[in-house]
Amino acid sequence: MEIIAVGREILMGTTRDSNSCWLAGEITRLGGRVTRFTAVDDDVKEIARSIREAFKRGAECIITTGGLGPTFDDLTLKGVARATGAELELHQEALSFVKQRYRYFYRQGYVDTPELNPSREKMACLPQGADMLKNPVGTAPGVSLHHGDCTIVCLPGVPEEMKGIFQGSVKRLLRKLMTGDYRWQTRIRSGQGDESKMADALEGLVKRYEGVHIKSHPKTFGRETSIEIEITAEGSSGSEARKKGEKVEKALKKLLEID
Ligand code: ATP
Ligand code: MG
Repeated sequence: MEIIAVGREILMGTTRDSNSCWLAGEITRLGGRVTRFTAVDDDVKEIARSIREAFKRGAECIITTGGLGPTFDDLTLKGVARATGAELELHQEALSFVKQRYRYFYRQGYVDTPELNPSREKMACLPQGADMLKNPVGTAPGVSLHHGDCTIVCLPGVPEEMKGIFQGSVKRLLRKLMTGDYRWQTRIRSGQGDESKMADALEGLVKRYEGVHIKSHPKTFGRETSIEIEITAEGSSGSEARKKGEKVEKALKKLLEID
């Protein structure tokens, strides 16, 4: 699974790409595995290229954030259309969603008029064959579509909107994609401050147990430093992953002489 953050502000360092980080956490907790983050400019060619590159790597799912809004620099769907060879077309369900959202924001006194204009209508132009995902927070619907074996999900950049659509629609969609892949995770305090001293022990364990990842989280040196170690175990069921993980946790604690 790959995540593509679209937006010049990310590349300029003015916006921290917290969306990718949040999505990766959610996906991991669901049992999925994120293999790459990409950040690209608000540029149709760049967006299309990043998506094609993910196809080439065999990504089974690509999630984009940003660039779904009404302004001229919101180009994500154009990029997706170019990468998949689809045309953008007015999507009736998305159109009535956008209309309804502007009527609602007008009633709240947040916008001056409930009428659609070309910028607002733009948000309802989706790649042919795509489905729209309701945005419980803002006006731009999310989008999902299939291209070959890959599912593409496009979410807005505003974190609250991105999270709202993810919780409301995307989780369900991803669960369907991820059958048979479970993950169990824990963190322990090593009681040690020198990562290099633990390296052999950690490597030995990873080699011994298939489907287990061990990652130490180093800190700067200090007498009181206790490096945290994260254990992630994968299995074809939740209990298999947990059993494997707990076995490694026990073995690691023994090696590091902690209770
Ligand atoms: P909208 O529909 O509200 O216009 P959008 O999909 O067009 O949303 P952008 O215009 O790309 O989203 O970004 C809107 C705001 O969301 C940005 O100003 C930025 O503050 C925030 N944002 C965008 N991308 C990210 C990201 N990857 N991580 C965190 N915040 C982001
Ligand atoms: Mg925008």
